[in-house]
Amino acid sequence: MNSYDEQFKVLLCGDSGVGKSSILLRFTDDVFDDVAPTIGVDFKVKALEVDGRRVKITAWDTAGQERFRTLTSAYYRGAHGVVLVYDVSKRETFDNLASVWLPEVNQYSTRPEVIKMIVGNKLDLANREVSSADGDALARRNGCLFIESSARTAAGVRQCFEELVRKVLDTPQLCAS
Ligand code: GDP
Ligand code: MG
Repeated sequence: MNSYDEQFKVLLCGDSGVGKSSILLRFTDDVFDDVAPTIGVDFKVKALEVDGRRVKITAWDTAGQERFRTLTSAYYRGAHGVVLVYDVSKRETFDNLASVWLPEVNQYSTRPEVIKMIVGNKLDLANREVSSADGDALARRNGCLFIESSARTAAGVRQCFEELVRKVLDTPQLCAS
């Protein structure tokens, strides 16, 4: 597959340790690495076919800068889709989506129609601090899509990106064709 109908920039944000790099690695390479997920990688490219359209996704990872709350406006610029990740076993990471990450995405997005997907990750863990209903409610209040995932088991990961891309494809302002 070397020609595409669409090329989209997608980026990940959310607190450090919630599994952003692991979700990206699971999506692009279908692996899970317990030891070194936060790789120094800026972005990965993945081809996807959604509803018969060939899409090239350039997915940007924070490379750890989110630890210092210093994602620059350049990181957000031009994004068609944003994946906002929290950890279902850590309430604070969910609260920070509402108080830190959603406002930041809204402030820096250069496309008003940008599609936002909220992801409750680490679904495989038993010690849940955030219910599915809470995640769903936050997404509804903010006009976002919502899914729960596990980078460890792969549950929900591919679906997350497919649903995000499907919504981008359904938004004429975000598409070339
Ligand atoms: P980031 O800082 O948001 O990029 O998070 P990382 O991808 O570096 O992951 C942080 C830690 O959480 C690592 O030890 C991962 O192995 C672990 N982790 C990530 N996703 C999952 C998951 O779905 N389930 C479990 N149990 N651990 C995960
Ligand atoms: Mg990381």
